[in-house]
Amino acid sequence: MGLAIISPGKNMDAWISNFQSLDPSIPIQVYPDIQDPLSVEAALLWNHPPGILLEFPNLKLICSMGAGVDHILKDPQLPEHTPITRIVDEKLTWSMTNYVVMGVLNHHRQLVRYQQQQREKRWDMSSPEIEVSIGVLGVGALGNDIVDKLSYMGFKVSGFGKSPKIMSYPYYFGSQLDDFLQQINVLVCMLPLTAETEGYLNLELFKKCNPGTYLINVARGKHLNEQELLVALERGYISGALLDVFHVEPLPSNHPFWEEERIMMTPHIASVTNPNAAAPQILENFRRMKMSQPLINQINRIKGY
Ligand code: NDP
Repeated sequence: MGLAIISPGKNMDAWISNFQSLDPSIPIQVYPDIQDPLSVEAALLWNHPPGILLEFPNLKLICSMGAGVDHILKDPQLPEHTPITRIVDEKLTWSMTNYVVMGVLNHHRQLVRYQQQQREKRWDMSSPEIEVSIGVLGVGALGNDIVDKLSYMGFKVSGFGKSPKIMSYPYYFGSQLDDFLQQINVLVCMLPLTAETEGYLNLELFKKCNPGTYLINVARGKHLNEQELLVALERGYISGALLDVFHVEPLPSNHPFWEEERIMMTPHIASVTNPNAAAPQILENFRRMKMSQPLINQINRIKGY
C-alpha cells in the first residue's frame, strides 16, 4: 500500500528520489501512470484533476504539495472525511520572508526610482527613504515570521488575523480591519484563499487605506480584484504593487498588468516548496496515518486552512 503523486505537467523526479532515499519500502505511483489504484493510501497533490481521488477507495490521507490547500478544497468530489495536510517548513518560511523583506526594502529605499535615475544620468539626493509602516494580513506560519523579521530590522509592523490572539506586536482581528489599515502604508497579503478571503483586496478596502499605500500580494491571485487594483492606482489609493500571484497563471500576454509601470511582478516564485525540505514531513504523516496517530500540519476543513 503506497503513495500516489498527482501534479499534472510537473517533473516529480526530485520528490521521488527524496522519498526513495528516505524510505525505499513505500511504493510510489506518479499520475497519469497509476496502475494500481487500490493500493493508493495517500495522495500528494498539486492541482490534481477534480474527481480523481474517487478512484482510490483505500485513500486515507491527502497531502498538499504546498502551504496552501485551496487547490485541493476546490475539488467538488473530494472524499468527505479524508484528512488533509499541508506543508509547513523552515525553508518555505525563510524564502517567503526574504521575498517580502526584499519587496518592503525595495519600496522603502526606492530601487526602481534610482534605476530610472541611473538611466537618465540624474544625481538626485532628495528624500532617499519612504517612511513605511507595514501591515501583514494573515499572520500564520508565514505571516508571523514576516512580522518577526521586519520588526527585528526595526520596522513598524502590525498583523491582522481572524481570531483574537495575544501577539508580541500590534495585532488586529475580525472587525478591526479599518483600524489596522489606518496604522499602515505597506499592505502584505499572506492570507489563505477561502470563500471569505476571495476578492479581499478590492476597491472598498483600497479606499480605506492611507492614500498611496503600497501593496504586496504573495498569497493567491484570487485574493485580489485585479481590475479594481488598476482603479485604485489611478485614484492614488494605492501607489504601487509587488505581485507574485494572479487569477490566471501564467499571466496572459494581453493582461494590462504587463504594461503598468507601478506594478512589479514575479511568476509565483515567492516561495516554492523544496522536496528536500518537505518530503520528510509527508513520510512522517504517512507513518502516522498507518499507526492511526495524530497528523502534523493537518488543516481544518471547515475553516478551509
Ligand atoms: P496559515 O494557515 O498558517 O495562516 C493563515 C493566517 O490567515 C492565520 O493568521 C489566519 O487567522 C488568517 N486568516 C484566515 N482567514 C482569515 C480571514 N478571513 N480574515 C483574516 N485573517 C484570516 O497559512 P500560511 O501562513 O502557512 O500560508 C498562507 C498562504 O500563503 C497559503 O494559504 C498560500 O495560499 C500562500 N502561499 C503562497 C506562496 C507563494 O509562493 N506565493 C508560497 C506559500 C504559501 P487565524 O489564525 O486567526 O485563524
